[in-house]
This record gives sequence, C-alpha cells and structure tokens, in this order.
Amino acid sequence: MHYQSPWMNDELAMLADAASRFFEKEFAPHLPRWNDDGVVGREAWLKAGEAGLLCAEIPAEYGGGGGDYRHETVIMEAQNRLGLGGFGNQVHSTIVAPYIRHYGSEEQKQRWLPKMASGELVGAIAMTEPDTGSDLQAVKATAVLDGNEYVINGSKTYITNGQTANLIIVVAKTDPKLGAKGISLIVVETDAAEGFQRGRNLDKIGQPSADTSELFFNDVRVPATNLLGPEPGRGFGMLMEQLPQERLNIAQAAVVAMERAVDLTIDFVKQRKAFGKTVFDFQNTQFKLAECKTKATIARTFVDNCLLWHLEGKLDATTASMAKYWCTDTQGEIIDECVQLHGGAGYMSEYPIAQMYADARVQRIYGGTNEIMKVLISRSL
Ligand SMILES: Cc1cc2nc3c(=O)[nH]c(=O)nc-3n(C[C@H](O)[C@H](O)[C@H](O)COP(=O)(O)OP(=O)(O)OC[C@H]3O[C@@H](n4cnc5c(N)ncnc54)[C@H](O)[C@@H]3O)c2cc1C
Repeated sequence: MHYQSPWMNDELAMLADAASRFFEKEFAPHLPRWNDDGVVGREAWLKAGEAGLLCAEIPAEYGGGGGDYRHETVIMEAQNRLGLGGFGNQVHSTIVAPYIRHYGSEEQKQRWLPKMASGELVGAIAMTEPDTGSDLQAVKATAVLDGNEYVINGSKTYITNGQTANLIIVVAKTDPKLGAKGISLIVVETDAAEGFQRGRNLDKIGQPSADTSELFFNDVRVPATNLLGPEPGRGFGMLMEQLPQERLNIAQAAVVAMERAVDLTIDFVKQRKAFGKTVFDFQNTQFKLAECKTKATIARTFVDNCLLWHLEGKLDATTASMAKYWCTDTQGEIIDECVQLHGGAGYMSEYPIAQMYADARVQRIYGGTNEIMKVLISRSL
C-alpha cells in the first residue's frame, strides 16, 4: 500500500506540482549563492509572490491565494523536498500573515496583506530577546503610548527573516507591571521606522541561506493604530492561539525531512558497493532503513491527523506540542542514522544528507524548545 495523505486532492496535487517546478527552476539554481550570502535574495520573494506561492491561505480579497492550511502545507513540502528550507516563507505566510488576518482591523488587512502576498512586504515576528526566549512573559521590550503613537524600545535576537523583513510584528510590553497581561503585538513597518536597526546576520551551524538576526529598536515611533487586536495587553493570548499552527508547521517540515533523508539514503546505499555487494544488501542497512521508514510513516500519519484537526479548529496546544517535540526528535534520529549509512560521504557537505544533518538540529530548539513542549504536554496530564 502506498500511503496517501487523506487531505490530498487533485487541486492540491496540481499546486504541489506547480510549486515543485517553480522552486526547481527559479530557486534551486541560486541556492549556493544564497548559502554563501547567508540570505535568500530579495528578488526571490517577488518571484514567489508573482507565482502565487505567498500567503496561500489568506483570502483572495486581501490578495492571498484564497486557500487554507493544506495549500500552505503543499507549498512548504515542495520547497523543503528540494532542500530550500532557508526561504522563510513559513514565518511569512503561516505565522505573520495569519496574525494580521485573525487580529488585524479591516484597514490593517487591506494595507498589509496584499503587499505580503506580492512579496513587496516580507514578514518577521520578533519575540526572542538576548535575555529571554522560552520565558516569553519576561520580554523586556517596551511600547509606550505617547499621544497617538507607540514608542518602542528594546533588543531582539535570532529573528528569522531579520535582514530582509520590512514588516515586523514586535512582542513588547505596553504595561510592564502586568506581566503576561501587559504584552502586546505591534507592527513595525521598517522602511519608515527611524531608530530601527538591524544587527548581525548571525552565523549558524545549519540553514545557511536563512537570515537570522539581531534587531534593535531605539525610540521607534509607530502609529497607535499599528497595534494588533482590539486593545493593548492581548498579545500573550494571541501568541498562545497561534503557536499551535507554528508548531504543526515545524512538525510537518520534520516529516518532509525524514522522508527525504530515507529516499536519499536508499538511493545511495543501492549504488554504493562494499565487500562485493551493495551496502543495501547488508541486513543491518535494511533493518535500519526499515526502522527509519516506519518512524517516518508514523510521524506522517500523526501530522496528517493534526492537519485535519487543525482545519476543523480542533488542534489544541497539547497535541501540537506532541507533534513538534516527537517529530523533530525523530527527524534527528533518522537523519543521524542516514548519515551513518552514507559512511564518510555522509560527513561531506557536497552530499545533501550532510546539510540535512546540520539543518535538523535547530528544529528541536526553535518554535519553543522540545523541553517547553513537554512542559505544555505535562500540564494536560
Ligand atoms: C535559527 C533560529 C531561528 C529563530 N527564529 C525566531 C524568530 O523568528 N522569532 C523569534 O522570536 N525567535 C526565534 N528564534 C528563537 C527561539 O524561539 C528560541 O531560541 C527558543 O525559544 C529558546 O529560547 P532561548 O534561546 O532563549 O533558550 P532558553 O530559554 O535560554 O533555554 C535554554 C535551555 O533551557 C531549557 N529550558 C528553559 N526553560 C525551561 C523549563 N521551564 N523547563 C525545562 N527546560 C527549560 C530550554 O529547553 C533550553 O534547553 C529562533 C532561534 C533560532 C536558533
């Protein structure tokens, strides 16, 4: 039996095909340069926008694809199967755009979403700070109301799309005395933001084409109308509502990586010869690949179910945390095994499995660490 995701249909299969062809032709040839530059070229965003691959789940009235989360999934899978995970569309289209869609006023949606769909605006979300990551309630950045403007001060770090983004959702305290209840989400359009500065594009051990940066806000003034949501202080609740989709997305990317690693390794071991036979012929290789394939299939069926629950609005924080933690841990185990089956080639950067090994490590760290996932799961016990 060849497993088929229950949510797949002909229309989505066509989108998958078109997205694959687009990424292969328009993105893959540029990857070596983007890896060297530490950032995906700005022109890539406009091309992806033109091809209709940004903001697929945003309604067409706001310039988006008019699809749903399945459409985002198909595009992410096409991108990641080609090793193009460094293109920060998941942050842009499945994290930042949904915040605006769900919590933005009509005026904010009209103003920002069409430009996000075209790639004129690139989104980022700035939660993490030099002194606080997991403990999100402890953020120190402030946004103080002065007349009809917020004045933002603070430092952020490890921000995906940090070098490229020109629309940044900043997590800041509008009332530092209130803890989580004092947190708000404020949109900064950086092109017009005096006092906004990008810091270093941080040098990472994996995902070389993804720009991950420090950001600094020094008395940055934005109109009070850039607040997301009906009133200040709702930010933490919004984050908690939206984080399950981000975590599901990371889990799904983990599954694509597992499947790709197994496919690459089967191809490799069937070619490679040792002791007069192929490496595939050793029973150890077959057993290890059987284990990897089984784990990847279990992960796939679980994230497919999570996707269906998510479409019905039923994916809760506990289940999304299970998916994120287990799938990213399993991604690490499978890729480690696949490196081993490649022998020395597995350690050489010219083989995709080596890059996948380096890229995989962060999956257990960002989007909430896997320890934090277990904290969240434990609360449901
Ligand atoms: C490549 C990359 C991209 C990123 N992109 C973004 C982005 O776009 N936007 C953004 O805001 N952030 C981003 N991050 C930040 C990321 O979300 C944080 O690094 C992560 O949440 C962990 O926070 P921290 O680094 O401060 O670690 P810490 O919170 O300092 O954690 C250190 C260790 O302590 C453990 N720990 C902490 N609290 C507990 C606890 N209660 N129980 C048990 N163990 C605990 C952690 O699990 C971890 O092992 C990115 C990070 C990376 C590496």
